[in-house]
Formats: sequence, structure tokens, C-alpha cells
Amino acid sequence: MKFSDFYQPGRLAYSFEVYPPKDEAGVLNLIAALKRLAVFRPAFVSVTYGAMGTTRDLTRDLALRVYAETKLTTAFHFTCIGAARQSVRTYVEHLKKEGLDLVVALRGDIPSGVGGRPKSDFQYANELVSYLKEIDGFSIAVAGYPEGHIEAPDKETDLTNLKRKVDAGADIVITQLFFDNRDYFDFVDRARRIGIAVPIVPGIMPILNLKQIEKITTMCGAALPQDLHDRLEAAQATSSNPTEAMRKVGVEHALRQCRELVGRGVPGIHFYTLNRSESTSDVIRGL
Ligand code: FAD
Repeated sequence: MKFSDFYQPGRLAYSFEVYPPKDEAGVLNLIAALKRLAVFRPAFVSVTYGAMGTTRDLTRDLALRVYAETKLTTAFHFTCIGAARQSVRTYVEHLKKEGLDLVVALRGDIPSGVGGRPKSDFQYANELVSYLKEIDGFSIAVAGYPEGHIEAPDKETDLTNLKRKVDAGADIVITQLFFDNRDYFDFVDRARRIGIAVPIVPGIMPILNLKQIEKITTMCGAALPQDLHDRLEAAQATSSNPTEAMRKVGVEHALRQCRELVGRGVPGIHFYTLNRSESTSDVIRGL
């Protein structure tokens, strides 16, 4: 199965991104959440990987467990910064033997305080894509940035770098979260103009709370529109149940985004679930 097989005309493919929880209780909660989300028949679930291999074993074990216990098609993320070629091969071949051949191939964030770039056989994600193609037998998704990657000098340079990943063999692009659909539509237009022809799947995060989304957007460089910020702030300040009130604002915004995206023919939606089922379910039901 290739990622691109999920995105067919007339079909809308959902996918759900999750991250490895810290303990067994978290894993059990996550598996339960995915079983609830399974009713929406997602194309795949993807399990993130900590930069510099910090969740190497956790990601592998969780991906295998999600696959075994939910029977959902499972993709695994892999970040290559700090990695050696042979250890990449061992890792991905092990997962392929177990039936997991969908990889979200990333560079990963370079940790601050390491004193420059770590020793690595890979400098950028396009090199990982080429290596996975060399190993053979994988379908590959890569990351795209509607607002430009935080380190890129400008959006055009970043898009040229995205093209390197696609030219190296990526089957689809999954975007970083964004809250203003104009960024996505503009990104897709510019990508098509430079010859990126693969599906570009929008990544949507239903916001859970203000503090968390401020931290996430600061880290990844996505903009949190002022009006959305203000609505979250008001929900936090004035509701007797601020957690639920902020979650509802997050669902409303994500639903509005998704309605427009679907209306304009996106091939699918990749949900950043934050390991929870409620908000993603509310958005999909709303659609
Ligand atoms: P690259 O594509 O290598 O780009 C990184 C920067 O280098 C960009 O500024 C780009 O313009 C530039 N660049 C790229 N190629 C070249 C080149 N050949 N020469 C010069 N400059 C170049 N992080 C995690 O740690 N774990 C995850 O599981 C994870 N999953 C993600 C999933 C998605 C869908 C997205 C959108 C992001 C994810 N991230 C994850 C975050 C990602 O690791 C960071 O954004 C990281 O900083 C860049 O990774 P990349 O693969 O996009 O890198």
C-alpha cells in the first residue's frame, strides 16, 4: 500500500497523528481513543518519533501495538538528524518485516545547546527520503510548511527544498498545522507552479487550550490568528468550565477550516489528535 493510494478522487481520507505516551496508562488511553476514532475508518494512523531518536524504541513499540490492537493501517515517523545510515536501515527494516511500510520521513528539530549540528549521516529530510528509496519497499510522506519552515530564509526557498523531498521519492506531503486556510491554498498553488504534483494533505489541529497552543505555535512558527487567540482567552476567563469552553472554541475553528477545505476539494485531512478522540470526532461528525 502506498500513501498516495488513499487519496482518490471522490474520496476524503482521514488520518490521525498520535505521539508515544509516557507510561502504560497513557498507552492504554491512547489505544482506547484510537478504537473510538476507528469508526471513521481512517486511511492510517501515524506515530511520531522524538528528534535525535529520543523515542526510538517507544515509537517502534507503540506503532506495532497500535497496528496489532486496533488493526488500523499504521505509519511511523522517523527523524534522521543525528542518525547513522546503518541504524536507520536496521530500524526501518525491522518495522517493514512486521508489516509497517509507511514512513513519515523527517529531519527533526536540531536540539538547542548541543553546540552546532550533531554528528549525523543526514543533514536534511531529502537525504532520508533518498536513503529509504535505496533500501526500497517503503511509501514515504514528508512535511510541508504553508507558512514556511521556521528556519527557512523565505517561503520560496523552503518550497524548493520541499521539491527536493518529492523529487527524491515522497508520495505525499502532509502540512504543518495552520489556522488560516489562505496559507494552505496559497501554498498548494505555489507548490503546483513549481511542479510538485503529489497530494498535499492539510494538517489540522483542533486546539485544546490556549497555553498549549501558544507553546506549539511558538515552537513550530505557525501563526495563531488574533481573533482565535481572543476567543480562547475569553473562553478561559469567563466560563465556569474553561477546559471545555476552550476545547469547544478549538472544535468550532477546526470545523470551519475543514468545511472550507473539503468544499474546495482537499484529498484528505490529517488530524493532529494530541492523543485524544473527542475533538477530532466532533469535527468529523460536524463535517
Ligand atoms: P527538512 O525538509 O530537512 O527542512 C528543514 C529546513 O532545512 C527547512 O528550513 C528547509 O527549507 C531546509 N532544507 C531542507 N532541505 C535542504 C537542503 N537540501 N539544503 C538546504 N536547506 C534545506 N518532528 C519530530 O521530531 N518528530 C516527528 O514525528 C515529527 N513529525 C512531523 C510531522 C509533520 C506532518 C510535520 C509537518 C512536522 C513534523 N515534525 C516532527 C517537525 C519537523 O521535524 C520539524 O519541522 C523539523 O524542523 C524539520 O523537519 P523536515 O523534515 O521538514 O526537514
